[in-house]
Amino acid sequence: MVQAEQVRKSFGRTEVLKGIDLAVRPGEVMCVIGPSGSGKSTFLRCINHLEKIDSGRLSVDGHLVGYREKGGVLHELRDREVAAQRRDIGMVFQRFNLFPHMTALENVVEAPMRVRRTAKAAARQRGVELLERVGLGDRAHNYPAQLSGGQQQRVAIARALAMEPRLMLFDEPTSALDPELVGEVLDVMRGLATDGMTMVVVTHEMGFAREVGDTLVFMDDGVVVEAGDPKQVLTDPQHERTRAFLSKVL
Ligand code: ATP
Ligand code: MG
Repeated sequence: MVQAEQVRKSFGRTEVLKGIDLAVRPGEVMCVIGPSGSGKSTFLRCINHLEKIDSGRLSVDGHLVGYREKGGVLHELRDREVAAQRRDIGMVFQRFNLFPHMTALENVVEAPMRVRRTAKAAARQRGVELLERVGLGDRAHNYPAQLSGGQQQRVAIARALAMEPRLMLFDEPTSALDPELVGEVLDVMRGLATDGMTMVVVTHEMGFAREVGDTLVFMDDGVVVEAGDPKQVLTDPQHERTRAFLSKVL
């Protein structure tokens, strides 16, 4: 589903991704951990066209991100084609960034109606179903300010799902939440995983990584130091850098 080969990305003179090799299979839940500044968010942003890679190959669903290959030559995609690629990828950020002037339901139906041209009635029906799926069927008409952080983050997940993505990216989705609200968001993510969604999850929640993750990736200083079965990586890390990091967070 996601294939990264020697992906590099610099900001100015700082190389942030120094040759990332990773593959995410359809239906796989990949959790990514690593110290601050190691490039986790940048990697997700590259997958979702929010940053452009400098070199290497990055593809989603067999399509190069942002490019088309023709006769061995790469051609940049046009804006419309980029938009079409992005439509299939849902992303949830640390901050909920819902539209504050729209209700939960309006937030969820906005993109399907505007981007996919889904008819209003159908979009709203599906929107209510999605809100029910994240446990917020009774909150459809609340504005974000009337919802807790955990509820807002669940609306954000429903909003991403409304576009029927083939891949979901999560960038520390619970890091901004009060501790007692973390569980309800992780439960929704666990449900998605059970339903077979392909997910890449940057998280500090080691319990989630252990129980839900198929793969755990440890990134440090722009490289993948270690990747493998979460239980194995957490209990028997193969690299000193992984060990040092885990000893600080576990
Ligand atoms: P955190 O755990 O703190 O979220 P991270 O692993 O997600 O960290 P990134 O956000 O990917 O790390 O950042 C990696 C490095 O790239 C950092 O040094 C950051 O300052 C730098 N960086 C990220 N985005 C930009 C940008 N748009 N311009 C310049 N530097 C950037
Ligand atoms: Mg980050």
